Amino acid sequence: MNVSPSLPVILFTPIAGSEGMDITVAYFHPLLHPEVVKQDFDQIRATGAGSIVYAIQEQEEQRWPRDLERGLRLAQDAGLKVHLSLGRYGNLFAGPSLVPSWYTFRHPQSRVMDRHGRYHDISCYNHESFRSWLFKEIEHYLRVYPINGILIDEPRGPDVTCFCSVCRALCPDVADLQRFRRRSMIDFLGEVCACVKQVDAHAKTTIVLLPQDIGQIEELATLPHLDTVGCHLFWQLFNEDVTMVEEWGRSVVEMVRRHEKRSQLWLQNFNLDEYGEQQLESAFMQLLSAEPDEVACYYYWRNNVDPTSVWQMTRVLLRRIPRRQLHWHTLSN
Ligand SMILES: [Zn+2]
Repeated sequence: MNVSPSLPVILFTPIAGSEGMDITVAYFHPLLHPEVVKQDFDQIRATGAGSIVYAIQEQEEQRWPRDLERGLRLAQDAGLKVHLSLGRYGNLFAGPSLVPSWYTFRHPQSRVMDRHGRYHDISCYNHESFRSWLFKEIEHYLRVYPINGILIDEPRGPDVTCFCSVCRALCPDVADLQRFRRRSMIDFLGEVCACVKQVDAHAKTTIVLLPQDIGQIEELATLPHLDTVGCHLFWQLFNEDVTMVEEWGRSVVEMVRRHEKRSQLWLQNFNLDEYGEQQLESAFMQLLSAEPDEVACYYYWRNNVDPTSVWQMTRVLLRRIPRRQLHWHTLSN
């Protein structure tokens, strides 16, 4: 039998230990213009990305469900898995638009109350009505839309100890309320992940943290239904030296790997002036040297001095990542 002349050969040499790093790109743009959206997704896919993150706001689905369905389908048609981020739900998570949670606005009794009796503009996750609403939303999205996973973006830490009637009833010892807040936050995030898996056992769950919350990873990584722990290594946004990218990145990857979860490190390719843009390559190489399971970044995201240049640079950098689907090329190509 003759050997085919177009047998695959390896053209890329993977960086040691980093074989098969996945790429995720956040797409925080409207889905209303299908032709534009399709071109964008083709471009994202061409970088070797396997997934997008799309952030939904609460009011969006009520007003343009067809655009949402069509847009997310276009992503899957382009070969991209879709991870849905619950933008500012209950004001507990981050989101691309600075809009308050519609749920919290309409259910002011669900808000966190501090020791002085002052209300804060976030829903208390110990309220059963808030939890059941959130879980129903997740179930609805997973059942109705083409979605491969749910991403929780920068969950609010236990910075404000809640003294609401629900928390007081669950934790009668006032002196223990602060620790209770922390425990119940991990418990809540665990239930969010469990809810996702209950609806769709194949759906992936991701929680992305700020560097200041890296300390939460040890507890989060014990959650059985959590697949991926991410971290936003935004050196420029937090006025840190670019070398912090490697430091943060390594500690995240190390902790997450110990618990056999996947790690996802985010590159800050937004909010960059000329100087920030010059540091982008250095930030990227440091991120890569931490050897995460996934590299994540943004498609034309906000406030760059030169948006086109930043995206072109991002594409160049992403090509340096060894990827499974690009390892094999035919000789005839
Ligand atoms: Zn409370």
